[in-house]
Amino acid sequence: MKGFAMLGIGKTGWIEKERPKCGPLDAICKPISLAPCTSDVHTVWEGAIGERHDMILGHEGAGEIVEVGELVKDFKVGDRVLVPAITPDWHSLEAQVGYSMHSGGMLAGWKFSNFKDGMFAEYFHVNDADGNLALIPEGVDPVLAPMLSDMVPTGFHGVEQAQVNFGDEVMVIGIGPVGLMAVAGASLRGASRIYVVGSRPNCVEAAKFYGATDIINYRDGSISEQIMDLTDGKGVEKIVIAGGNVDTFSEAIKALKPGGRIGNVNYLGSGENIKIPRVDWGVGMGHKVISGGLTPGGRLRMVKLSKLVQYGKLDISKLVTHKFNGLERVEDALMLMREKPKDLIKPVVIVAEDLME
Ligand code: NDP
Ligand code: ZN
Repeated sequence: MKGFAMLGIGKTGWIEKERPKCGPLDAICKPISLAPCTSDVHTVWEGAIGERHDMILGHEGAGEIVEVGELVKDFKVGDRVLVPAITPDWHSLEAQVGYSMHSGGMLAGWKFSNFKDGMFAEYFHVNDADGNLALIPEGVDPVLAPMLSDMVPTGFHGVEQAQVNFGDEVMVIGIGPVGLMAVAGASLRGASRIYVVGSRPNCVEAAKFYGATDIINYRDGSISEQIMDLTDGKGVEKIVIAGGNVDTFSEAIKALKPGGRIGNVNYLGSGENIKIPRVDWGVGMGHKVISGGLTPGGRLRMVKLSKLVQYGKLDISKLVTHKFNGLERVEDALMLMREKPKDLIKPVVIVAEDLME
């Protein structure tokens, strides 16, 4: 089969590989729709997780099952399924303790395009099909379904980590597709005021759609100074970081009220250390919590998040600004993700012929 791969740091290309084998608990799928991710950009061009050779990319997609292992109970050939970016080993001790995304080691629940071949291929392998797949429900457009693999769960995980509650004043730093889903998640969790940090006008428009009340442009000066101006010097209660770099944490600490929480989902592609400003961190006693986490994946999360779309609580269509037809277009879609033109939020690639537009 052919697949679009990371050949080495800074290099991508099409390669031929054996079709993956199906274990007793597994499934083999062919993609029906796919999306590239900013994480692929960090992985390939920043070498952020180290060298990878001939590893097929892609961890956001929906698929059609072409083969199931003999122990798989709930899925059959022909089912169209949501596939999470994170596919944990549910029997692992890490999963049992509540951190399924780290099953088998730190970040090891993230298998596609990290430890094994991803979805940008004619076929891809899903471990623990019963634990990780979910049927695409009625009312969820299969073309948009890849947004449920990673963008929705990750943006929402920023909100979960920040522990946003009713009435909280929240800041979301970064309003690419992940940050936009953090804005949507904060709205669903009852945030009162939502300050967002970004610069591209189409993202700002989408952020307002999802519930942003105030816009901060990080190109106009320090984020913390701007937030202090907007809050009479008080700062905010919760912060989700979904963009920026290692220096963003200092800004977030300065902008946070004592007792506040920062939930980071940004993938830090470069830089050695994160600096915590001593005085702004209450000289060590400010109760300003920083949490950073890979999104949880798995079947239940796919089921629950897709219900928000199914029952009209979450509109994922605003995330998708570009559509391509045909597996070979994953290359163009990924390059678009790398360039980040002004009109881009997220591209999708439609692979199933009956879905092509
Ligand atoms: P985008 O690149 O689309 O968005 C990044 C956002 O951050 C933009 O709004 C951008 O502003 C803003 N930004 C850029 N520089 C700064 C800065 N210096 N200070 C403040 N804001 C800044 O990324 P995505 O939304 O696709 O992804 C966000 C991050 O989440 C990525 O690092 C990605 O790898 C990571 N990720 C993490 C996952 C997890 O499980 N934890 C899963 C998936 C993704 P603008 O462009 O408007 O100027
Ligand atoms: Zn992703």
